[in-house]
Amino acid sequence: MPKKKVIKKTITKKKTKPVEVKEDLLLQPPRGMRDILPKDQPYWQQVRRVSEKAASDFGYRRIDLPVLEFSNLFSRGIGTGTDIVEKEMYSFSTKGGEKVSLRPEFTAGLVRSYVQNGMQVDPKPVKLYYIGPCYRYDRPQEGRFREFFQFGCEAFGEIDAILDAQMIQMAWRIVHQLGIKNASVSVNSIGCPVCRKQYRNLLVSYFESKRQKLCIDCKRRLETNPMRILDCKEDKCVQVSQNAPQSVDHLCDECRAHFKDLLEYLDELEIPFTIDPNLVRGLDYYTKTVFEIFAGSIEDGVKKNALGGGGRYDGLVKLIGGEDTPAIGFALGMDRLVNEMKKTGAKSYIPPQPKVFLAQLGSFAKRKSLKMFEALERAGIMVAESFGRGSLKSQLKIADRLGVELTLILGQKEAIDGTVILKEMASGTQEVINAAKIVDEVKKRLKK
Ligand code: AMP
Repeated sequence: MPKKKVIKKTITKKKTKPVEVKEDLLLQPPRGMRDILPKDQPYWQQVRRVSEKAASDFGYRRIDLPVLEFSNLFSRGIGTGTDIVEKEMYSFSTKGGEKVSLRPEFTAGLVRSYVQNGMQVDPKPVKLYYIGPCYRYDRPQEGRFREFFQFGCEAFGEIDAILDAQMIQMAWRIVHQLGIKNASVSVNSIGCPVCRKQYRNLLVSYFESKRQKLCIDCKRRLETNPMRILDCKEDKCVQVSQNAPQSVDHLCDECRAHFKDLLEYLDELEIPFTIDPNLVRGLDYYTKTVFEIFAGSIEDGVKKNALGGGGRYDGLVKLIGGEDTPAIGFALGMDRLVNEMKKTGAKSYIPPQPKVFLAQLGSFAKRKSLKMFEALERAGIMVAESFGRGSLKSQLKIADRLGVELTLILGQKEAIDGTVILKEMASGTQEVINAAKIVDEVKKRLKK
């Protein structure tokens, strides 16, 4: 249990003496949120590097968006019948009375920005990527946090299924390059508003006939978002869903051709995928292609937490107030990627290590060493130091432990003479060098 500290707070009551109340200060963040400590950063760094490299290779440009948006952007964009909007948003009113929410995902905000900033006139497709935290007030459990991080890409203005395939290729490549080798891709098509209307009716009458077998949430979903029942993890709902009508059997000609094209492109790319008729994704805005990437195969019978997912949302730009523009995107859950990397023993990022250690002895030398450190760093030479230590022995011990190639020793005498001792660690040889020439000398030796 974390230690509790006690702080004192003063509340002033009208015309009475101030009352002192004690309030517990919990040494922990709010539930479902956590620190990402330095020891885990190499994994996060690796996720960021690999993802951003893929984004730039595929022509995506970075965009940063506010963490807060007006709440109705999400209720309009994501849909009022979704779990996210119904139950999981962190929403509040500001002092000025504005109703705002912490973003539960990026797409709605990104579409808002796309329309607001006139990106509709840019050459198509407009390709953007983002990276940052999202917030959902869900029950925390393994792989499910209230604050979590997403990397995602969105492309506007292209209807061709080749873009859908390319997005899956990109998400797949990132997962693979992170060393997660056991991933699998699920795809489905949930049609467009035209064919989905008919499919939705079929689905509702099917689930109506099985109503008593559904969980409480799905009984509610029958009214609000019947397609979401297909996605429910409750055993009894999974059973009922197995015989439910499938969207791919009820696509209009255009959606069927689009889906067929996508599958052909995926075959061409040799990406292993399965068609999952129960994959619907939670949000209202999806049309045609939906996909998810899982760690491990789904044939195990259990659907594990998805590493990422996405889909087409051809109606959203118009819904939010822009021109009718086809669009598609995906998001990868960075927390889950990191978790999977650790589980499978995947490599994390190894930052460049310093090859030079700068040791100092005596107060004058200590002062001089600050400048020497800067000169070396400016020349692109990574230098380690332990300026706080007084003893040369303990500094050299650190240099040894770091495995540097060269140690520079700046003693009182050298500082006065304008020299520095250069020690080659492998051979143990030492030389006195003119301090003004130390940068060139170090460069020369490191090259060797
Ligand atoms: P979604 O669009 O909701 O499927 O989210 C995309 C990805 O973000 C998911 O596949 C997860 O990897 C990740 N994700 C979503 N919600 C959470 C959460 N509460 N905690 C951690 N990761 C999440």
